[in-house]
Amino acid sequence: MLKLEHVTKYYGNFKAVDDLSFEVKPGEIFGLLGVNGAGKTTTFRMIIGLLDNFEGKITLNGKKIDYNITDKIGFLTEERSLLTKFTVKEQCLFYGRLKNMPEEEILKKLDYLLERFGVPEYKDKKIKELSKGNQQKIQFITAVLNDPELLILDEPFSGLDPINVELFKEYIVELSKKGSMIIFSSHRMEHVELFCKNLVVLKDGQAVLSGYLKDIKEKFRKKNIIINGDVDIESIRKIKGVNEVEENALDIIVRIDNQDVAPKVFKEVSKSKNIIKYALEEPTLNEIFVAKVGESYEK
Ligand code: ATP
Repeated sequence: MLKLEHVTKYYGNFKAVDDLSFEVKPGEIFGLLGVNGAGKTTTFRMIIGLLDNFEGKITLNGKKIDYNITDKIGFLTEERSLLTKFTVKEQCLFYGRLKNMPEEEILKKLDYLLERFGVPEYKDKKIKELSKGNQQKIQFITAVLNDPELLILDEPFSGLDPINVELFKEYIVELSKKGSMIIFSSHRMEHVELFCKNLVVLKDGQAVLSGYLKDIKEKFRKKNIIINGDVDIESIRKIKGVNEVEENALDIIVRIDNQDVAPKVFKEVSKSKNIIKYALEEPTLNEIFVAKVGESYEK
């Protein structure tokens, strides 16, 4: 288990991370979220042992993280950290050896992963010759080469098309099922919702929201009603407890204060003879994020 206990980090007089505590258990995919500058990268760096001058405690399976256990960690950074003049094989050999993997095992795993991600022909290509999305694949392959016990993924889907996002997702879920602890950071809330049962949202280095997504959504109370059909929008707007009615290309979204408002909206909607869809849904993580952090996380 990865455990952060009351972690605080200063850069000079500036407090970048403020009394942060959370746990990630084996098999769990944990979301670490926050707007730009909230303290995510600083937290990642402390976890992998790149920043050691901080208050509080970070342990992996009860032990302080040092060079003896970094072999068990995989880190995919938001910015590319590839050795672009190397070939894919050379780069993987370089990082694999740093993680104390025997050469034979590195090459076997590399072949498997290149095949799995549909790019076996890139093995002897220089990284700088690859497209942005394919460089991201190589960066991901490098991070998971050693089947890490703890895997940190900072914006892993950046630059990927939807088909490749699916390939990555499948592999990440597979790793978690095998028992890896995964920390996931993304500006794409739909990815976070899909993956992470448990999360923390940082604002100015402090956790402003934390816990199980299911509980967070329940506690938030506000709900959305999705309608497709001919309804009198102005009458719905006038119902007490209706905060907003929004029309998009497909649906009408009625944002309500709490579940008790839903029957009133339903009564109004049922006056129409042409309703194709009526659904009561939980708020999206982005809506909760906006309410808590005061700005949208989706770019
Ligand atoms: P982003 O989403 O933009 O990557 P982040 O959540 O990862 O942001 P951090 O990079 O951890 O945020 O930065 C947190 C705060 O600490 C920011 O205000 C940043 O300016 C500051 N900071 C980060 N690194 C340093 C440093 N080496 N020296 C001084 N201040 C720093």
